[in-house]
Amino acid sequence: MVVAVYPGTFDPLTYGHMDIIERATALFGKLIVGIYENPSKQPLFPLEQRVELVKVAATGLSNVRVRAFKGLTVDFIHQVGGKVMIRGLRANSDFEREFEMALMNRKLAPDIELLCLMTSSQYQFLSSSLIKEVAKLGGCLEGMVPDHVALALRDKFSVSITLATGKGRM
Ligand code: ADP
Repeated sequence: MVVAVYPGTFDPLTYGHMDIIERATALFGKLIVGIYENPSKQPLFPLEQRVELVKVAATGLSNVRVRAFKGLTVDFIHQVGGKVMIRGLRANSDFEREFEMALMNRKLAPDIELLCLMTSSQYQFLSSSLIKEVAKLGGCLEGMVPDHVALALRDKFSVSITLATGKGRM
């Protein structure tokens, strides 16, 4: 069974991430979503909460596990017995960054293969940083993040946010 690892900051999880998670689970026996502590990005959500938000979203996906990690991504992938690293690609800008990182990771761990999955077109504009900007200003997050993520953002920013269920503002 090939174990794949999808690493990222997930601050917070979006439907763009979920799209990649769902498509990767169809390809591999086991998918581990690795939530990177990433102190350099100064995440809005603490590590434990980012893990919890992904766990809740992945509840129905039996071959997905969610784990937190610190340090080098390739070390984490080795620790969990992973063979493939999954990343998501949106625009050209992602490609350049991912290509650079892939070459560095190949140098560090030649046994790990990188697989980049293209995002579905409706999620091409989605990023966690944009979501945070919109949430901070009380904008509608419908179709961008699961409801439990929208609720967590609402609590963080103390604003009312429209739920994907269309039940109006909270
Ligand atoms: P990182 O700090 O590692 O970039 P992110 O949580 O921002 O962490 O992203 C994790 C991975 O998910 C990256 O490969 C990123 O390109 C991908 N990703 C983020 N948003 C989307 C999206 N809307 N569609 C597809 N992939 C995405």
